[in-house]
Amino acid sequence: MTKSLEELALERVTLEKGALGQVGSYLQDKGYRKIILAADAHTYEACGRLLEHKLQGSGVEMDLCLIEPGTAGDVVADGESILQLMLHVHPELTDALIAVGSGTIHDIVRFVSYKTGKPFISVPTAPSVDGFTSKGAPLIVRGAKKTFPASAPTAIFADLDILMQAPQRLVAAGFGDMIGKYTSLFDWKFSHLTAGEPYQDQAAAMTEKALRSCVEHVDEIGQRTEKGIRILMTALIESGVAMLLFGQSHPASGAEHHLSHYWEMEYLRRGSRGLLHGAKVGVACAEISHVYHEAVERGIYPEREPAALRRYGAEVREWLKDVPSEAEIRSLLQRAGGPASREELGIDAELFERSLREAHLVRDRHTLLRALNEA
Ligand SMILES: [Zn+2]
Repeated sequence: MTKSLEELALERVTLEKGALGQVGSYLQDKGYRKIILAADAHTYEACGRLLEHKLQGSGVEMDLCLIEPGTAGDVVADGESILQLMLHVHPELTDALIAVGSGTIHDIVRFVSYKTGKPFISVPTAPSVDGFTSKGAPLIVRGAKKTFPASAPTAIFADLDILMQAPQRLVAAGFGDMIGKYTSLFDWKFSHLTAGEPYQDQAAAMTEKALRSCVEHVDEIGQRTEKGIRILMTALIESGVAMLLFGQSHPASGAEHHLSHYWEMEYLRRGSRGLLHGAKVGVACAEISHVYHEAVERGIYPEREPAALRRYGAEVREWLKDVPSEAEIRSLLQRAGGPASREELGIDAELFERSLREAHLVRDRHTLLRALNEA
């Protein structure tokens, strides 16, 4: 079944220079008069203040909620942040919420939007993740991260003037999240064939196209040219929409994301400041590519050859041709200006070895990594 954007309730996607200037008329058209703008100190400076200025005189009353950082110094999507935003929401009077920021601010807002039934509008400040349109919010509850149902935005206003100002590490993280599609698309086909997990050609094709456009323009992305940023942000939105169309995260999340989640959970346990999602995913993709090529092409397994590989070796070998080598993936990450190795991320050898053995346990999803570890 093919869904249209309207059926997804995503009414509008505006990606252009000056997109911020169109938020006011959208709010007026919708009849929204009382809105809450959620940002953190950085994203307020980068974008929120300008949006506030642009909304002056539009008849829209704006209540600013500056989400405060957690104990490690960065803003986190936890109970305190959610409560902080929740306290601004008036059951009758609030018309809508606006998320001004990157992934974490969006996760806080999308969850509160879902629980209060108030629509939310996405204003990304950096092309750093593909999760702006996600219907799931990863939240930290009593020290552990879990994904909860949440709302997708009704509109996205991605202003190229703002996105081009985003720090290189956030841009490179967005590229890393996209590079991860090499292994997520492989794992999706693998899980469909070997474990009967659902598959959808449309979502797969959309994600693959988004991935290819990023790889073709990696240098422009690395140099943060207008074209590079436009291509990366388009790809991130398309990848997000592909997940919305399919209704689950399979197109965009495979073993590389499981490895990244594993590292994240360990950092949470240690109380360390988190690493950028896409930075972890990009490096994890290179590591997973290494494991997969070793297993499929050279017969090097953690334990023994999995039954699924014996049975479906021909198909798996064919699909793996679309996954670049570890070295090629690292080179792409470098050209995008991001970390390309676990050493650069600061993932120690013990954690890395353990994560390769256990990462498949973080999600109930079939991947080649899981097949290798459970053989
Ligand atoms: Zn991701």
